[in-house]
Amino acid sequence: PSFLSTIPEGPPDAILGIAEAFKSCTDERKVNVCVGAYRDSTGKPWILPSVRQAEERLLADSSVNKEYAPIAGDSKYVELALKFAYGSDADLSSVAGVQSLSGTGACRIGGHFLSKFVPKPEGLAAVPILIPNPTWGNHISIFRECGMDVRRYRYYDSKTNRLDYDGLMADLKEAPNGSVILLHACAHNPTGCDPTMDQWKSISDLIKTKSHHVFFDSAYQGFASGDAEADAAALRFFVSEGHNIVLAQSFAKNFGLYGERTGTLSVVCNSPEEKSAVMSQLKLIIRPMYSSPPIHGSSIVKTVLTDDALTTEYYANCKEMADRIRSMRMRLVEVLRDVGSTHDWSHVTSQIGMFAFTGMSSEMCDQLTSKYSIFLTRDGRISLAGLNEGNIEYVARAIHDVTD
Ligand code: PLP
Repeated sequence: PSFLSTIPEGPPDAILGIAEAFKSCTDERKVNVCVGAYRDSTGKPWILPSVRQAEERLLADSSVNKEYAPIAGDSKYVELALKFAYGSDADLSSVAGVQSLSGTGACRIGGHFLSKFVPKPEGLAAVPILIPNPTWGNHISIFRECGMDVRRYRYYDSKTNRLDYDGLMADLKEAPNGSVILLHACAHNPTGCDPTMDQWKSISDLIKTKSHHVFFDSAYQGFASGDAEADAAALRFFVSEGHNIVLAQSFAKNFGLYGERTGTLSVVCNSPEEKSAVMSQLKLIIRPMYSSPPIHGSSIVKTVLTDDALTTEYYANCKEMADRIRSMRMRLVEVLRDVGSTHDWSHVTSQIGMFAFTGMSSEMCDQLTSKYSIFLTRDGRISLAGLNEGNIEYVARAIHDVTD
């Protein structure tokens, strides 16, 4: 028998499995609040008008071709992306940056880089990375695949439905000096719960005391509050405090470029010489993995961000998505009250970003699916983008039924 016959069936991906189940469900009342992708007020995917216009320009431009990008990607795109994150007046002369396969690919390059170059704390066989509990599920597998020692720090207190700040600080303190700490730049997924600016300040101080390294994952800049500057405040603060941060950026949500796989990975170095050495190593990681990145998404972002009118239009498009999502957040809590729920749902309105972390148990989530054909992850996370005026009352009534 071939070795193939000994291969065990692997588990399906938790989130993509739910998407499949939604697709095959024949109940006409069905609602998908699992997806981490924007839907407009009629429940449809949305191509940003600014993105559409950029695509039309690219199509009409006879100088555009399909040649390979360099290993590190389109350098003009990377520069614009880094300005988007670090600020338009940021000095990038010591920042190494490469194009990546969206946020996932950026995490993977960054994890590989850190695993290879961060000194292992004494007695440890691998570089520890602390990721929040809970976090985006893929973080666990990504950093494990990079050969890192994946550990957790407390993040959320399910009794209060708020940030477990004391637990977070205690766990960062407890970690071996020189660990990597993964932080969500804004709109923490799945909890929608971010530290306050004062808390970020204390986290930064503690990380310095412990000589930890900071990895920022930024998947929602601009998409969270509608203001890309405000959403970058934490990471910019860390840079101003002198941390040599590693940053994974995704343009999946904020530009609606999900399937185009557009992102960057950057490392804030101390000098142009360090930047040059780091760039050379990032390219050595990328070349044997996929040689060079795709060019369509990065060309779109570049076209938008090099044209003032398109940039203005883009910011309005992004704000429109953030505003609709925020209005669904408010409406959900309002309608829950209207249909008779007496629970305290105030945590839902104080959260930000794409998701409401409702606090519902796995059993309640299962009931929502079996009884109402409402599809969500079993941690009680609801994608607000899946709600609209056509289904919000149905969803609120169902939540009230299973939580009453
Ligand atoms: N990081 C976080 C926290 C996310 O929520 C996501 C997407 O859901 C990503 C990274 C990366 O997504 P992508 O690879 O599509 O950019």
